[in-house]
Amino acid sequence: MTSIEANLQAVRDRIAAAERGGGRAPGSVALLAVSKTWPAACVAEAAAAGQRAFGENYVQEGVDKILALRGSDVPPLEWHFIGPLQSNKTRLVAEHFDWVHSIDRLKLAERLAAQRPATLAPLQVCIQVNVSGEATKSGVAPGEVEALARAVAALPRLHLRGLMCIPEPDGGEARLRERFRSLRVLAEQLAVAGIPLDTLSMGMSQDLETAVAEGSTIVRVGTAIFGSRQPKQQGTT
Ligand SMILES: *Cc1c(COP(=O)(O)O)cnc(C)c1O
Repeated sequence: MTSIEANLQAVRDRIAAAERGGGRAPGSVALLAVSKTWPAACVAEAAAAGQRAFGENYVQEGVDKILALRGSDVPPLEWHFIGPLQSNKTRLVAEHFDWVHSIDRLKLAERLAAQRPATLAPLQVCIQVNVSGEATKSGVAPGEVEALARAVAALPRLHLRGLMCIPEPDGGEARLRERFRSLRVLAEQLAVAGIPLDTLSMGMSQDLETAVAEGSTIVRVGTAIFGSRQPKQQGTT
């Protein structure tokens, strides 16, 4: 077994244990393997071990890997863009990715909708919510989510699937739980308001158990599968 294969198995075991522990249905939590900074060969190795969904943070790096692996003997993969997205980079994302987790303003969604090729399936999107208040900057404020969700849901070529969050890293276990719970509660409120969602993208290598206990349906795991990342070099987005 390669180390990526062994790590993947360990993460799958953690997810299964968290599903059992949290009273969640077996298989209700999907694993997104976050391959940012790792070469296409590592993605291919994870794919050989059965992983199909991969997450990338940097547009050009992600597109390079998508193109490198498409048409190779690697089976078709599902690609999720999970990083901060600048308006001038939406076209590449619309043309190459299957999902975007980091919608935090209407302008991004409008551009993605306009640029999504009609030949592709609708782009699956999540709204990134700032559940940490002043402690972090990325994501839309909870009070603005409903209006944004309504507007995004009305756009063509996009399918609004859910909400995503990245809690502040050093808040402690109780606060972490409260952050994840607040995302779930927000999704429940949206359902009541007539905007049903089926996806909560929350939980990473360090905290996936807590996220699953609070209702996560997609955990985004990098380090626990591929190892520690090298610091990102400038100019490679
Ligand atoms: C890097 C990253 C992850 C994966 O984090 P790990 O701690 O390596 O598991 C998940 N989500 C987002 C948005 C990321 O940028």
